[in-house]
Amino acid sequence: MHELSIAQSILSIAEKSVPPDSKEKVVAVTLQVGELSSIETEALLFAFDAIKSNTILQHAEMKIETIPGEAVCNSCHNVFHLNSYATACPNCNSYSVSITKGKEMKIVSLTMED
Ligand SMILES: [Zn+2]
Repeated sequence: MHELSIAQSILSIAEKSVPPDSKEKVVAVTLQVGELSSIETEALLFAFDAIKSNTILQHAEMKIETIPGEAVCNSCHNVFHLNSYATACPNCNSYSVSITKGKEMKIVSLTMED
C-alpha cells in the first residue's frame, strides 16, 4: 500500500527531527498534499494511525492541507485549475499543458508540546 510507505517515511523524518530525550511530545503533523499526487488522504490518515503507536508520534494528530492542481496552457498561456491529468485547457481545448502545482507532498510542520 502506497500510503503505508508514505506514513512510514513521515515517521522516520519525525524521528530524525525530534531528539530522543526530548521531554516535549509531537501533538500534530501538518502535511500538504497535492490534488494530483495520487495520495488518498483517507488511506494516509488510516495508515498513520496504524503505525504511530509506541512511537514518538503516538500522541500526534495528522492534519492534511490539500494543494489544488494548477496548470498553464502551452498554447494560450491560460492558467487554470485541474483535478486530474489529461485535462484540456478550458480556454482553447489544448492538451498541451504544463502542471505547475498539485503534484507535491511535503511535511509543513511538527507541532510540539510539553
Ligand atoms: Zn489554452
